Amino acid sequence: MSLGNLCFLTRWYDLEHLKDPAMDYYRSAPVNPTLSAATFVSASLLAVMFLAAWLWVKRTPTRAKLLTARCGFLLVLICVLESVRRYWNRESVQPDLGSNIALLVIELILVSGLVLTTFGNTGVLNMARRVVLLLTLLFPFFAIDLIWARVTSPTASEFAPRSPLPMLLKLRPELKKKHVLWLLFDEFDQRMAFDLRQPAGDLAALERLRAESLVATQAHQTAGFTTMAVPCLLSGRLFSRVDVIDANTLNVYAGDSSPGTNWHDQPNVFKRARELGVNAELVGWHHPYCRMLGDSLVRCLDVPTGAPTDAMLAETSAADGGIPREVPYLSRLQLTDLVNIFRFKGDSATAVSQDEYMQQRQQQQYVRIRDAVYTDITDPRIGLLFAHFPTPHLFGIYNRKRKDFTLDDTLSYADNLALVDRTVGEIRQILEQADLWDSTTLLITSDHGFRPSMWRGRLGWNDELEKLTAPGRSETVPFIVKLPGQTQGRVFREPFSNVVSADLVLAILNGQISTYQDASDWLAKNVNPDR
Ligand SMILES: [Zn+2]
Repeated sequence: MSLGNLCFLTRWYDLEHLKDPAMDYYRSAPVNPTLSAATFVSASLLAVMFLAAWLWVKRTPTRAKLLTARCGFLLVLICVLESVRRYWNRESVQPDLGSNIALLVIELILVSGLVLTTFGNTGVLNMARRVVLLLTLLFPFFAIDLIWARVTSPTASEFAPRSPLPMLLKLRPELKKKHVLWLLFDEFDQRMAFDLRQPAGDLAALERLRAESLVATQAHQTAGFTTMAVPCLLSGRLFSRVDVIDANTLNVYAGDSSPGTNWHDQPNVFKRARELGVNAELVGWHHPYCRMLGDSLVRCLDVPTGAPTDAMLAETSAADGGIPREVPYLSRLQLTDLVNIFRFKGDSATAVSQDEYMQQRQQQQYVRIRDAVYTDITDPRIGLLFAHFPTPHLFGIYNRKRKDFTLDDTLSYADNLALVDRTVGEIRQILEQADLWDSTTLLITSDHGFRPSMWRGRLGWNDELEKLTAPGRSETVPFIVKLPGQTQGRVFREPFSNVVSADLVLAILNGQISTYQDASDWLAKNVNPDR
């Protein structure tokens, strides 16, 4: 019985990890119980199988059967410990040498026990049996802990979005024609997309737009990852660190010594736009925007990633699939985990299937966000719309050769860049048809550049990316500003932090900037306050 549970040890670990209130930040509803239930059913099924096998051996014991059972028992234990060791190394940023050595020593003892058992010495075997039995006694405590966590976990109301602001219907005359679209494309890399123009193919819509816009070539990302980069951008402040606390709390820190405050309580571009009398809307990926900022907006749609860690991914996919699908899946997952122990290189089957699941999911998320943006950009009451798209962030969700959304395992960053181009082209078309293109201000930028360390070896990684990222990661992001009635493009070459975006948007909304000369002067002044 306990052996069955032990085989699912890494899955029980997942459940422990998922109890962390910080995980709630990435959920859009209370924990779905499918994964816990499926883990319990799978472990119990395996336990029953082990028990049946053992009873069969005991009923008609022969020397060969007993030896096989004993060696099998030790072998399973070794595999379980090894999969735990690998799980720790995978989950932790800095693998802990001590626990690695400890686990390897225990595995070695068990291997020696295996050899001794074949020679009839059951010393190590008996010790291992006692330890496993002892662990069984701990299991009920563990189960109670999990159930307790479930009982005390936040309810649906804590995942509800904050109530939006009422739509202002009477706009000040000077705001009537103000229409600012701030488009953030996640992981859009300036160096690859525009400096090298590789691996990009044809980015016709973007190039056309750049030729008639103010383009900055050295805008630096606000942080290396989305959870921190976006709060910096929207609040217009470079935070030194962020801390995910729970469903409704993302603490941000202004300096190393300052206490953290919830991002919700910080200033943000939407609150300040509202003070100017502007209706602001947000459509975005990854963050639970509507819980964090919903009360600064008149309309909000968020599509949380739902998979910041492998364990969370398992919970999300379990909720999608239900118990009948999840039990065979988990059993297969444990089996491939065991098989992976005997593979030393190449992608593990588990990682590939996880990436493919994520790819599909990300494509659906893109479509949801895109459709909402395409509908709402022509709403004349909205003065500021911020849209955060999950592309060109890998995985590849667009097929640039076919120019459609057919998924396969060769899709990569170049495909997603083509999707950014297509999206920008379609937005232009929609605005042109609504006769709004000329009066609309567009700001296109990103949260951070391309991160090779995150994607190396994952689905969509290829030789071209390996070559292009050989010099390391680049930290510049595109920065394209298209102002109403301006057709002659301009380039701004000084380096600056993208954190100025929020202030720039506000300067445009309150009428300080109307030409590229104004924008260029404003940037020069704001990125170099001493001059
Ligand atoms: Zn990002």
